[in-house]
Amino acid sequence: MFLADMPLPSLKALLCGGITVICEMCGKGASYLKTILVEGTRLQVCGDCSKFGVAPGSPDAEKEIPVVEARLEQREKRYKEKNVFERDILELVGDYSTRIRKARERKGWDHEELGKRLHEKRSVVGNLETGSIHPSEGLIKRLERVLDIKLMEKMEQVEQAFPSRKPSRGLTLGDMIKFEKE
Ligand SMILES: [Zn+2]
Repeated sequence: MFLADMPLPSLKALLCGGITVICEMCGKGASYLKTILVEGTRLQVCGDCSKFGVAPGSPDAEKEIPVVEARLEQREKRYKEKNVFERDILELVGDYSTRIRKARERKGWDHEELGKRLHEKRSVVGNLETGSIHPSEGLIKRLERVLDIKLMEKMEQVEQAFPSRKPSRGLTLGDMIKFEKE
């Protein structure tokens, strides 16, 4: 079986070799790299090493899901969803009860009056101002309109929290090792 003859990937080369073409199996620099699958893992290797795996897309390659790649894809997808999610979502401000009370007092209204304008009971106003209930989305909109205040704020963007450098050739085992090290 060929596995016994397989040279160990040079980890040092993988980690320090930089961005360009370094064979992920033997660690040698190469003028071009070929993508192969070794036990379900996609590797970019030099011509010499390409014989140790199968070409992606060949009948052998489709037998098992490449585990590492599937995980990386999953992770990328998660990041993307998170970013999209947090970019567009508005959330209720933390001090909504104070803002409501101050705005009401500015208008010179009591709980009863504000309640009427909101089509809510006066106890709802009281509970909002003590922070013991969170207004529903619809109520937030009515509060904002009736009181001329803002109760929703954009959540902080998180894009910068993730590494912006992205390998253009797609993620490989070597990249994953780099990510884990960071
Ligand atoms: Zn090689």
